[in-house]
Amino acid sequence: MTSFNDFALLAPLQKALAAEGYTKPTPIQAQAIPHCLAGRDLLGIAQTGTGKTAAFALPILHRLGKSGITRKPKTCRALILSPTRELASQIADSFRAYGKFMHLSIDVVFGGVPVGKQIKRLATGADILVATPGRLLDLIDQKALSLRDLEILVLDEADQMLDLGFIVPLKRIIPMLPKTRQSLFFSATMPKTIAGLADAFLTDPVKVAVTPVATTAERVTQGVMFVPVSAKQHLLATILRDPAIERVLVFSRTKHGADKVVKHLEREGIESAAIHGNKSQAQRERALGAFRAGSCRVLVATDIAARGIDVDGVTHVINYDLPNVAESYVHRIGRTARAGATGIAMAFCSNEERPYLRDIEKLTRLPIPVLALPEGFKVEAASFREPSAPRPNHAARPQNPARTDNRQGAPRDSKPGQDRPQQDRAMQDRGGPDRANQSRPRKRRRFSGGGNASAGRSAA
Ligand code: AMP
Repeated sequence: MTSFNDFALLAPLQKALAAEGYTKPTPIQAQAIPHCLAGRDLLGIAQTGTGKTAAFALPILHRLGKSGITRKPKTCRALILSPTRELASQIADSFRAYGKFMHLSIDVVFGGVPVGKQIKRLATGADILVATPGRLLDLIDQKALSLRDLEILVLDEADQMLDLGFIVPLKRIIPMLPKTRQSLFFSATMPKTIAGLADAFLTDPVKVAVTPVATTAERVTQGVMFVPVSAKQHLLATILRDPAIERVLVFSRTKHGADKVVKHLEREGIESAAIHGNKSQAQRERALGAFRAGSCRVLVATDIAARGIDVDGVTHVINYDLPNVAESYVHRIGRTARAGATGIAMAFCSNEERPYLRDIEKLTRLPIPVLALPEGFKVEAASFREPSAPRPNHAARPQNPARTDNRQGAPRDSKPGQDRPQQDRAMQDRGGPDRANQSRPRKRRRFSGGGNASAGRSAA
């Protein structure tokens, strides 16, 4: 499939696609849409950024628009379950954009906001309802909604659902679903637990898989700076002073950490906003709105809050903390490589985080080039214990790594078997001998910030 015309979608959908400027289906769309249109159940392995929302939204809009069934009060015809409020809003926005020349009602419900208005809206039913699992059950328990007339169910980001502890709500929802329905199930990863959950929802599904988690990383020019925790705030402020960093997502592992980063940046005169689970819905929307509009160029986020953030033109992602789950790193850096674009990702890695770095490199199968610290940036020697293999003096290197022009990365110069010994020990403790044997010689690498990932990885 090379064109949307091949799908023979309803005319209003084709018009909307033209208005969105979509000319060619993405791989997940090319693979999934024909099966979805044919009414098959689908198991899709795809992550955000691949165009998976349109892969399910377009056939849903087409099928609902074509069937001519009228929705009944307190029911929905298509239900999309999403793990987070941000992703739910994002999905609803996509449905509205693709369905703007149709007359289907699209609603979104999630927790953290009063339920009363949602109950009122659902009184007339919704053709398409996007919901987080907890609030959906609330509404069902309050008899504001029934799933008896459901025609199509989508479970999006199933792996994230499980990470967030939604397994119990999801299991409660299954018996409420009508036996005859179409089910579409999407997950970025497919470990056994997710496959088991998929079995419970799907009947004879077609399986499609695109962009394995490792390959997203290949589109992003990456670099890591070794820095003690105590110097991270200062390092971030130093890097953010570079105007080449136009729109940057900074990731913190914890909500508290994200707030601390924002406060510190404020003291340094750098405007930023935080988005995480302790913020009210209004605060999150305000922060995201300002970031999207470009009035706030720095958004500090936790992993969960960042799921579903779909903002074009994110030039940089900074991993202020490395995530303890390697897949999260790939999701994070994917924020700067939306819809096939390239981007730049930097990570700050303290001694304690080296095992996380190792896990990430193992997952992506790409060593992350080491970046020099910015010119003149001083790290208190006592506060940063280097690993036993000697490293070059990064601080002495002349260039600011945050610049998007020809940056010079410091080489990783350890010998095989000596590479990051502390980390390897930790890995051995956690993962057994095969992990410990992953040490390999490092090639000298350049960090090219111009978005050309392959150039960035060529051996010098
Ligand atoms: P998603 O993976 O659904 O979050 O989509 C990622 C981004 O790709 C969104 O900004 C979409 O608007 C965009 N997108 C989706 N499908 C296409 C397409 N066929 N052509 C261009 N952009 C697309």
